[in-house]
Amino acid sequence: MKRKNSQNLFKKAQKIIPGGVNSPVRAFRGVGGDPVFMKSAKGPILTDVDGNHYIDYVGSWGPMILGHAHPKVLKAIEGAAKRGTSFGTPTSAEIDLALEVIKAYPSIEKVRFVSSGTEAVMGAIRVARGFTKKNKIIKFDGCYHGHADSLLVKAGSGAATLGVPDSAGVPAEFTEHTLIATFNDIDSVKKLFEEFSDDIAAVIVEPVVGNMGVILPQDDFLLKLRVLCDEEESLLILDEVMTGFRVAFGGAQDFYGVTPDITTLGKIIGGGLPVGAYGGRGDIMDCVAPVGPVYQAGTLSGNPVAMAAGLSTLQNLKKANPYKKLAKLTQKLAEGIEEAASKNNISVLVPHVGSMFTIFFTGDPITNAQEARGADKNLYAQFFHLMLDQGIYLAPSQFEACFISATHTEKHIQQTIKAANKAFSGLVL
Ligand SMILES: *Cc1c(COP(=O)(O)O)cnc(C)c1O
Repeated sequence: MKRKNSQNLFKKAQKIIPGGVNSPVRAFRGVGGDPVFMKSAKGPILTDVDGNHYIDYVGSWGPMILGHAHPKVLKAIEGAAKRGTSFGTPTSAEIDLALEVIKAYPSIEKVRFVSSGTEAVMGAIRVARGFTKKNKIIKFDGCYHGHADSLLVKAGSGAATLGVPDSAGVPAEFTEHTLIATFNDIDSVKKLFEEFSDDIAAVIVEPVVGNMGVILPQDDFLLKLRVLCDEEESLLILDEVMTGFRVAFGGAQDFYGVTPDITTLGKIIGGGLPVGAYGGRGDIMDCVAPVGPVYQAGTLSGNPVAMAAGLSTLQNLKKANPYKKLAKLTQKLAEGIEEAASKNNISVLVPHVGSMFTIFFTGDPITNAQEARGADKNLYAQFFHLMLDQGIYLAPSQFEACFISATHTEKHIQQTIKAANKAFSGLVL
């Protein structure tokens, strides 16, 4: 597959943008080679600047659950833009989206919109600290909660791919209140509570880890966290930036039946435009300014065009209710890929839930970040390129989640399994 135009653009971009990209994993450092510059997308298909087509399993890293360029979402964006793109005043669009969110997430009584998942988590943590008047946060090795200073500790995906566990430019003092536990290991959390019991404001967790590749919660892990947080008078924050509206319309909290104190949302909630949100119990959210003393603001927060994209996405998602179909297709794909691997004597595991999955090159089960790191990222890199050259666009890192959209069909899945079979047979072990 020729990608001359992409290569030329990448050369140009690298001169004026660090690494040629505006978010690190896009640069393909995890798999080697040059990133592909896309020109357009429709439904499940990406088209690059050289005119090559790809079945897309990245979906802009999560938001595009309805497929690219959904006509009704585009119409909503166009309509909103024509009325003016930003006023810096409240608009009714914010109420409409807030109502939709609150209906879908019974744990959310009040919600604040921001412009990214990073911001949503920053807000959630600040309000957790303000509400509890405690300082420390427990996060899990491998979970990513955006690029805020205090959370860039054992943060999975981008950092894991680059082999940099922590970021330069973050003073040690900024992360001294961040405690690290092991996902699926409730004892590791209990231990931290024993040590810092009266100063832990919140436990924050990706209910399904997506940012170390897909890792599922096991043995009622989330429910155990809920009980523990109640006992310790700490808040439970579910970071549903990826899983919200993805594993179910009501997110992982609906899917697994666990009620958080605060939820963070992003990705799908903006339908491809920049939206994040954090919300929870009314008494907690009333700590946020201007009602309470926890300051948080944003010039473009609740932007009317972004609200319109989000609202239209959620409305059409609710109407289409594709979750059963998505889960079925994803399971078919996962089983097909595992089968193709085993035919070629290659150990592959494809953990999946709803429409999220990761193709791990390992023979061992993966329940936490440490085990995920044992997967063979060099084999994944080869596999990635063998798939790319057959027009299949997977996540360019072993440690990311892939997604399918409501526009993927049985035909796309079969085509992908066939390509995987060929790719597995072409791997150099
Ligand atoms: C993507 C993601 C974020 C960060 O969201 P941005 O919009 O990229 O800032 C935070 N938490 C989780 C779980 C995510 O998947």
